[in-house]
Amino acid sequence: MSLPSITDLLEEVLAGRRINEANALRLFEEADLADLSRAATAVRNRHNDPARVSFVVDRNVNYTDVCNVYCTFCAFYHRPGDARGYVLTEAQLRKKAEETKAVGGTGFLLQGGVNPDLPWEYYLGLVRFLHTEMGLWVHGFSPVEIHMMAKLSGQSLQATIRDLQQAGLGSIPGGGAEILVDRIRKKIAPLKGGPEKWLEVMEAAHEVGMATTGTMMFGIGESLAERVEHFRVLREQQDRALARANGGGHTAFVAWPFQSGNTVWEGKIPKPTDAEYLRTIAIARIYLDNFPHIQSSWVTMGRKTGQLALSYGCDDMGSLMLEENVVSAAGTCHSVNRDEMNRMIQSAGFEAWQRDNIYGVV
Ligand code: SF4
Repeated sequence: MSLPSITDLLEEVLAGRRINEANALRLFEEADLADLSRAATAVRNRHNDPARVSFVVDRNVNYTDVCNVYCTFCAFYHRPGDARGYVLTEAQLRKKAEETKAVGGTGFLLQGGVNPDLPWEYYLGLVRFLHTEMGLWVHGFSPVEIHMMAKLSGQSLQATIRDLQQAGLGSIPGGGAEILVDRIRKKIAPLKGGPEKWLEVMEAAHEVGMATTGTMMFGIGESLAERVEHFRVLREQQDRALARANGGGHTAFVAWPFQSGNTVWEGKIPKPTDAEYLRTIAIARIYLDNFPHIQSSWVTMGRKTGQLALSYGCDDMGSLMLEENVVSAAGTCHSVNRDEMNRMIQSAGFEAWQRDNIYGVV
């Protein structure tokens, strides 16, 4: 049997049919960028208002930079015992929360290193303080942190997440997925475990009805087939979440290229080109047909490419980036104020709207 042509595959997408991994890979390798833009936009518009693009006003807060996971791509952490490591004080957190609310911000994207010196009660107290006392949505803790908390609490992942939820945790960001294949994770983050470690936390979160995001850090030596494999496990997980119909599931997919500055990989791995980023985002939008939203990574790609991504399947510009420490530690830092964000979206041809961390209207 002969393979369908690229034109036939694109027609399948435009007709609203799901494509399999082999065909996603063929589109990745062979389709024209302009055709991918058209197909990805069709999928985007099935989920979202074609005329509008959202953004969120929040702040990336890293409550500690002490970490014992030692990912080779990370320029952010300090080892336990290093005097340069920090844990934010309550006064520092309060100040950041007040500054965020003063500019109409709604939440914290809260992540840390994996700090072996903090007890389980610290995390419950941290979430309670930010949510109950400061009135913020807490989009917090990557799967590797949740695994550590489950050990500290002596409970299952589900029970640990439920406790965090009761303390005020609103949703869980998908940080630390990198590329969800063993070969790559072993190479860049051997202590984080295989793809199942990330997936099992997200599965537990979905089981207790919590919203999460799916992410991918690409351009770290993976093949295009491995990127498609990453998409496959995310799409299958999202199918299971949607079948539960309990409010749990991935709200969005976010992909950004690896930033090698100040890491052992600096100068060894070229940053993906703008065209490669747009192609990757478009294939994600086409293949992840059960994800409602796809975020543009203008923070890592710059404003122009971030705007272009809106024509390759993205419907969301993510955060204003009132604060960002992890990507900036690797030498990349872009931020804008609210007017600039509005202009960035409008000059790309869309109407801007402010969302909260789970895509509700603010
Ligand atoms: S990426 Fe996260 S888990 Fe890995 S070393 Fe950096 S702070 Fe630690």
